[in-house]
Amino acid sequence: MLWYPYTQMKQVDRLPKMIAGNGVIMQLEDGRSLVDGISSWWAVIHGYNHPRLNAALAAQAARFAHVMLGGMTHGPALEWAAELVRITRLPGQEAGEGLHHVFFSDSGSIGVEVALKMAIQYWKNLGIQNKHKILSLRNGYHGDTFKAMEVGDDSDFTRAFSAVLHRGYMLDIPTGGFDATPEQVQPAIDQLEALLKENHAHIAAFIVEPIVQCAGGFHIYSPLYLKAARALCTQYDVLLIFDEVATGFGRTGKMFAAEHAAVTPDIMIVGKALTAGYMGHAATLSTDAVFNSFLGKDDEKALMHGPTFMGNALACAVGLESIRIIESENYLEKVARIHAIIREELDAVNSPAIVSKRTLGAIGVLEFENAELLAGFKPFAMEEGVWLRPIGNILYLMPPYVISEGELRKVTGVMRRWVEKISGK
Ligand SMILES: *Cc1c(COP(=O)(O)O)cnc(C)c1O
Repeated sequence: MLWYPYTQMKQVDRLPKMIAGNGVIMQLEDGRSLVDGISSWWAVIHGYNHPRLNAALAAQAARFAHVMLGGMTHGPALEWAAELVRITRLPGQEAGEGLHHVFFSDSGSIGVEVALKMAIQYWKNLGIQNKHKILSLRNGYHGDTFKAMEVGDDSDFTRAFSAVLHRGYMLDIPTGGFDATPEQVQPAIDQLEALLKENHAHIAAFIVEPIVQCAGGFHIYSPLYLKAARALCTQYDVLLIFDEVATGFGRTGKMFAAEHAAVTPDIMIVGKALTAGYMGHAATLSTDAVFNSFLGKDDEKALMHGPTFMGNALACAVGLESIRIIESENYLEKVARIHAIIREELDAVNSPAIVSKRTLGAIGVLEFENAELLAGFKPFAMEEGVWLRPIGNILYLMPPYVISEGELRKVTGVMRRWVEKISGK
């Protein structure tokens, strides 16, 4: 019997069963079809059953689906790595600056593990002892493996394991959202500086979800904080890690959230939309400085990590084609158009039950007073032909970028009607 994720299996009802997908439409066995409002955990940015991705996949499968990356290389992996280096370069950055080296793995959590291993071993490789704690942000989420849980905030995801998690340091994000004033952001920057000043000798890295913290509650904060974090991490010899597993590939309105602040981290993780939902994959990118610390005459300084399926050729082929589609079909314009509609629609939703509304890029969030106000939302949305899945007291949408205006308004319409229903209008 199948064991489902994040699910009390005693309460699992008959689940909707998908039999086909096309564009943003999920076709169910019972004849219903749903508009996907959350891109299957934020990955399916081109929609389902995309002809160009299907063709790239089939063409690579006809050559070879997979070959181990230990002691062997192949074109799709080399080309994909080069493309990821190119697209993560900031405007104005020269080739050679920025993130230059790409380590593939099979999921976002493992990409985070690799990033943390890189950061901790970096200081060891430089001969600096005891610099192995990690600083992270409250309400952050970085995955479900042990070290990823350790740097994520305490939550339903981690509670069963609190006895074995060796936590580092944790700070609050600044208040004021994306457009916060410098005065609103400064207290959080001061906290960061005070913590680094006192503890930097033990801290290997500061890991953040840049601009938008997703699974931990969709909190949005100012690029000014990232700019300050970059400067302070450099000043206090702490590596800066951006976990862009959720925010990468256009979701926040820029190709990567780092671009809002025009800063480059020392290490960056991408996943989820990286392979457009076709299969699991992630990439951990690093600067020359990080990479060079791993060079030496034997394995002692090498990165001793190697997921079996890293650089899987099908993943590479799909990921490469996905980048081509994003660039040739002007996806950032699509995201801007989606943003304008989400903004307009959520502006029109008002109720005392809503404590906060947040939008950025192709993300729209309604935060309710409590999770009970969303009890029954999922079946309600399904009856109206929409697939949305609240997290706690958060009702959010993160649609595929290929969604039409009508389909998008259908999704936001369901959110609005739910609010009207619980407000008794
Ligand atoms: C989903 C997510 C992860 C974990 O990715 P998996 O592929 O589920 O292991 C890590 N970091 C962030 C920011 C995420 O949203």
